[in-house]
Amino acid sequence: MGKVSIGLRGWRFDEEDVFDEDGEIRGLEEMPADTRHRIVRLSSLMGEPCNACWLLYGEDDIEQCNPGTIVYGEPLAEVLLCGDHEADFLYWFRELGGEEFAGSGVLADEFHEWFLDGGRAPDGYGGLDHVQRHPDALPNGADPTESESIDEVERQLDEMADAEREALDVDLDDLDV
Ligand SMILES: [Zn+2]
Repeated sequence: MGKVSIGLRGWRFDEEDVFDEDGEIRGLEEMPADTRHRIVRLSSLMGEPCNACWLLYGEDDIEQCNPGTIVYGEPLAEVLLCGDHEADFLYWFRELGGEEFAGSGVLADEFHEWFLDGGRAPDGYGGLDHVQRHPDALPNGADPTESESIDEVERQLDEMADAEREALDVDLDDLDV
């Protein structure tokens, strides 16, 4: 079984951790803890604005922000980006040493700081082309599975009693379920 992205490009999961033999999404309680943590976080990121857009326009001009389509980094310290800003992130990550923060809790803060200081990828810096030349360096989702899977995760969360969520250690602090 391979790796799959769900809902957003970027994070990838072992297919067998997320889907059963029939291709149906598993119950959250069946998933390994790390996978569950990421999936639950993913469901709360769907429809959220790109971080870079948000830094540019903020809440006051939220309609100017594109929804994020790709996510990098660790849950709760992740960077969520739209297609327009993915190249900026990749440029920072690969060419300016951002990579040293991979897997850390400050990846997003460090990127935001650079971006707020006016950091941008040079014109024509190829985001996707660049990734394809280094397919293993960063998780790069092919075709994210339909967002139906995420709808199903949200349905499961909705139906869970608080005690069940606690037992699973699902962090719902900023989930809008
Ligand atoms: Zn953006």
